Amino acid sequence: MSLNHVRPWRDIYRRKSRQITVGNVPVGGDAPIAVQTMTNTLTTDVAATLAQVQAAAEAGADIVRVSVPDEASSKALKQIVRESPVPIVADIHFHYRRGIEAAEAGAACLRINPGNIGDETRVKEVIQAARDHNCSIRIGVNAGSLEKHLLEKYGEPCPEAMVESGLEHIRILQDNDFHEFKISVKASDVFLSAAAYQGIAEATDAPIHLGITEAGGLVSGTIKSAIGLGNLLWMGIGDTIRVSLSADPVEEVKVGFEILKSLGLRHRGVNIISCPSCARQGFDVIKTVEALEHRLEHIKTPMSLSIIGCVVNGPGEALMTDVGFTGGGAGSGMVYLAGKASHKMSNDQMIDHIVEEVEKKAAELDAAAEAAEAAEAAE
Ligand code: SF4
Repeated sequence: MSLNHVRPWRDIYRRKSRQITVGNVPVGGDAPIAVQTMTNTLTTDVAATLAQVQAAAEAGADIVRVSVPDEASSKALKQIVRESPVPIVADIHFHYRRGIEAAEAGAACLRINPGNIGDETRVKEVIQAARDHNCSIRIGVNAGSLEKHLLEKYGEPCPEAMVESGLEHIRILQDNDFHEFKISVKASDVFLSAAAYQGIAEATDAPIHLGITEAGGLVSGTIKSAIGLGNLLWMGIGDTIRVSLSADPVEEVKVGFEILKSLGLRHRGVNIISCPSCARQGFDVIKTVEALEHRLEHIKTPMSLSIIGCVVNGPGEALMTDVGFTGGGAGSGMVYLAGKASHKMSNDQMIDHIVEEVEKKAAELDAAAEAAEAAEAAE
């Protein structure tokens, strides 16, 4: 639950879900909403896949999914799991053997639809392998690959068919006394996805993995995901998210975090508040923000920075941010610290200076958080 009693219009009441673990990451219950992405390298190219996993983890990914289409990939998975800084989910389709191999290779979770991997004996074998290797399962219903009998029953992919598919897969796991699972009901259509997710959220207490599948390129996919996932998260639905973009996995992680940050559900790094700029700007706002976004990527401490072109909105925004800069004309602007005007700085030195101020503030906030933790532990 993300509650802010001073500003109740910001409250989001999270749906109460069961908590499971994906490796060392708790998913569901009151755990932070986890951000996921997926590698797009050949899994057999261990070095390239690990480089992507590493980059995604540095950008903030809590969990990374890797495709396991053949036996060679299962073998590579073992090394990837061993060296990955975050839990690895193995993406399995149809081949029950891959599921068993992935569990044996140390995958933290199998993304598999138990109804699609063959007869009951094979399903039992995969579930047993998951159980033996402490591996959770994600049931991944997708509007594009619904079971034939559901398409015949409903005529086309619709929310009811997706929910029914999800519940059928859940039943198989429950009949095998397996409860460490989460579920997704993805579609590329925002309306279909949102309706299916609302349906499944009511029908089960399993943790929910959110995603709008095949959302598109960086810009269109980001907007689609922000609308679809944003609405669901705002309703309190979703325990882990993946933004699917035809782009670098690092971009998916960044977009995922931005969606969560916009709703106050996760905080990480510098939240830059900046104006669109206009003829009044006292410095080049767009170039400055681009440079700062890049220069401040290493900051993980949650904090805010306002970069505003002129005094129309600058002082007001600076009031609510940790560090601020407002353009003032004559080649310089005002630096604000903790909401108060602090000192003037020339435009040509402001980027380096702001990076320094943000780093200082981050160190201060980290020290305060550590002191608070130590005090709590001593109580
Ligand atoms: S804050 Fe000033 S520079 Fe920025 S858009 Fe508004 S009026 Fe223009």
